[in-house]
Amino acid sequence: MTRHVIIGLGVAGAEAAEEIRRRDPDGEITILNGEGTPFYFRPALSWLLKGRITGDEVNARPLDWTQRRNLTIISEKAVCVDTETKTVSTESGRQIGYDKLLVTAGAQAVKPSWTGVDLRGVFTYRTLGDTLAMAEHVEKVNAKNAVVVGGGILGVELAEIFHHMGLAVTLIVREARILSLLFDETASSIVARRMESSNGPVAKSPLKQLKNNCYINITI
Ligand SMILES: Cc1cc2nc3c(=O)[nH]c(=O)nc-3n(C[C@H](O)[C@H](O)[C@H](O)COP(=O)(O)OP(=O)(O)OC[C@H]3O[C@@H](n4cnc5c(N)ncnc54)[C@H](O)[C@@H]3O)c2cc1C
Repeated sequence: MTRHVIIGLGVAGAEAAEEIRRRDPDGEITILNGEGTPFYFRPALSWLLKGRITGDEVNARPLDWTQRRNLTIISEKAVCVDTETKTVSTESGRQIGYDKLLVTAGAQAVKPSWTGVDLRGVFTYRTLGDTLAMAEHVEKVNAKNAVVVGGGILGVELAEIFHHMGLAVTLIVREARILSLLFDETASSIVARRMESSNGPVAKSPLKQLKNNCYINITI
């Protein structure tokens, strides 16, 4: 029996696991999941923050998916791969042998080395954990303003979300304009003007506590 080990449970890891199972119905498939959450739709995190979906709806598969596909999930980070002994070690010291190894560890948000970057109230935006922590913080401190660093798709999307939460938003962009990798100057300036002028009435309703079955209620 082949022992397949996959590092990472994002869309690449989950899709690969399904395809491996299709081709090898009896093989052992183990997935190391550093986030410790069920497999969720990363692009849907913004919908979660906007309150358009609930915490359950962010899950990309039914909760019995792993049983139905006979997958073993280990909620730990891989820290070392030994290709001689064909072993993956996890942060707790666990050793997992493999015949075939697939690394689908994706990407991580870059945390700049600025002074104060680890202070309370400073977040990156990549994971479900980041999203829940950010929303919880906005509610806990009754935030009145937000500073978003980065003028790409996620920065602009976050700025819009915070605006609709009723926060005053400052967007800091390194380039001369927002969305510079996507748009030409004309299109960028149309979006920027629209953002700057959008000071109309904003419907606000309080964030509900976000935990496992998280739910945010924001009217946009
Ligand atoms: C908020 C947001 C919105 C987005 N919206 C869109 C969109 O609308 N359209 C689009 O095309 N793309 C979008 N993206 C990008 C898209 O989510 C990524 O391209 C996609 O998630 C990449 O999938 P992946 O499986 O390769 O990696 P990831 O989704 O990064 O998954 C990798 C997983 O591996 C885990 N991992 C990493 N290291 C280890 C380790 N050592 N041990 C165990 N596990 C580990 C990570 O914790 C993570 O769970 C968005 C991204 C974000 C953050």
